[in-house]
Amino acid sequence: MNADPLADLKPELFRPMGADGVYARTALYTRVVEALENFITSLREPESEFLRFPPVMSRGQLEKSGYLGSFPNLLGCVCALHGSEASIRESADRLLTGGDWTASLGPTELVLTPAACYPLYPIAAARGVLPAGGWLFDIEADCFRREPSVHLDRLQSFRMREFVRIGLPEEIVEFRERYLAKAPLIAADLALPHSIEVANDPFFGRVGQVKAVSQRQQALKFELLIPYHPGARPTACMSFNYHREHFGTVWNIRDGGGVLAHTSCVAFGIDRLAVALFAVHGLDPARWPATTRRALGV
Ligand code: 5GP
Ligand code: ZN
Repeated sequence: MNADPLADLKPELFRPMGADGVYARTALYTRVVEALENFITSLREPESEFLRFPPVMSRGQLEKSGYLGSFPNLLGCVCALHGSEASIRESADRLLTGGDWTASLGPTELVLTPAACYPLYPIAAARGVLPAGGWLFDIEADCFRREPSVHLDRLQSFRMREFVRIGLPEEIVEFRERYLAKAPLIAADLALPHSIEVANDPFFGRVGQVKAVSQRQQALKFELLIPYHPGARPTACMSFNYHREHFGTVWNIRDGGGVLAHTSCVAFGIDRLAVALFAVHGLDPARWPATTRRALGV
């Protein structure tokens, strides 16, 4: 079969870390990521509130969000050795005798953040009543999804930037429409070939297939897809999600009249966009199209 067309990029952009889909980033790659981040900042609403999240979040909060119902296969949970000094020592020392120290691991109160916006809703909810005009956020997290792959467009640990809107239904619909309308302009600024399509999340199992069909029928998710090389199956590099009242209900976010908040997020897959730039335009940013260099300042 054909060799992976992205294989030549890999040594210039990443260093292996002993696990598929988990990589160290080179200076070249990081320079483009930083430029991309600045470009995305230029797309945000000025009144957005800035928050950056760590790669872990509260397990209880993620459980409450319903994540295990939809994507139990993708979740990474932080585990640790618990107990007395003696029992921790005994467990760890099993490594020295060829035993299985991991058998003693127990869960902690933390999971690896699977999407940037999950930790946001409880923070917003703690502020009380949804004010007139709602809230807007610019957030980011290093996200984890348990899908090992050797392909550069499927990482286990990847960076996700999001613009998130919490408000009344008409405000949320307007927000998503506005960013959907901007999507072709974003791709054009970066000179990346693209399409925009209705999509569904990779819901787990047979019940998940029903959820996926319903999500598509209601057009709750759109994606900006970019083919990494001519003829390639396009890769989802951005998503435009309308969660309806899901997070408003979970976190009881309401306006002064008791109306439930709706939410929407526009997600930028930073690593997928950065890899797209290198895959489509080559490894030397100085030779990228003028429009791309202007947009990114590289
Ligand atoms: P979503 O929540 O829509 O699945 O993910 C939001 C965005 O994160 C996607 O559009 C994509 O750009 C990025 N993303 C999702 N999964 C992966 C992945 O496995 N690897 C990388 N590099 N990015 C991903
Ligand atoms: Zn989100």
